[in-house]
Amino acid sequence: MSDLNHYDVIIIGTGAGGGTLAYHLAPSGKRLLILERGDYVPREKANWDPQVVNVDGHYNTREKWLDKKGKDLHPHTNYYVGGNTKFYGAALFRLRKEDFGELRHHGGVSPAWPISYDELEPYYTQAEYLYQVHGKRGEDPTEPPASAPYRYPAVSHESFSCASRSHARREKSAEEPLHSL
Ligand SMILES: Cc1cc2nc3c(=O)[nH]c(=O)nc-3n(C[C@H](O)[C@H](O)[C@H](O)COP(=O)(O)OP(=O)(O)OC[C@H]3O[C@@H](n4cnc5c(N)ncnc54)[C@H](O)[C@@H]3O)c2cc1C
Repeated sequence: MSDLNHYDVIIIGTGAGGGTLAYHLAPSGKRLLILERGDYVPREKANWDPQVVNVDGHYNTREKWLDKKGKDLHPHTNYYVGGNTKFYGAALFRLRKEDFGELRHHGGVSPAWPISYDELEPYYTQAEYLYQVHGKRGEDPTEPPASAPYRYPAVSHESFSCASRSHARREKSAEEPLHSL
């Protein structure tokens, strides 16, 4: 096999999973090949339109998948450089410690993972640095233990008009923000 055809690592997909792995391995000097089935997302006005992107699913694949009963299932996914990560909402939460154990849901039992939260914790911390996650530890009571503080401070909340504030108070349905800046 010629050198040109030899790779130490072949990564399939360029989303958060493949992209993060490639980023981490790039300085190692290893020969990496990244395979991506999709093209680049075209830069166009529709990129900025939540209705078109999220509701109309403009960038979604037109593939039809089948559910377990053999019925058509439209996957809310896309094939582009960057994958679904190109479109995601950028809320980067850690799974909770309990998520790694067996969990009973309304629809059935989710089996335990073969690894624990504690084993993954150092990688969550690294990923939060890499992706510049902002926040403040200890504000969210469901937050799992973390070995380091967030590197970037919590961002301020979007301004909330007086009208919506008093409406929210009346409705008593709005969550209080975890912090105020
Ligand atoms: C609208 C939207 C909002 C979201 N918001 C959030 C959020 O706020 N927070 C959050 O945590 N998660 C969110 N998610 C989920 C999150 O985006 C995904 O969990 C995450 O992007 C998955 O990353 P991934 O690397 O596993 O896969 P992807 O990002 O989907 O990447 C997979 C890549 O593999 C490529 N590929 C697939 N098959 C092949 C093949 N055979 N050969 C070569 N390439 C292939 C695809 O084209 C794609 O580029 C959101 C998802 C969507 C769609």
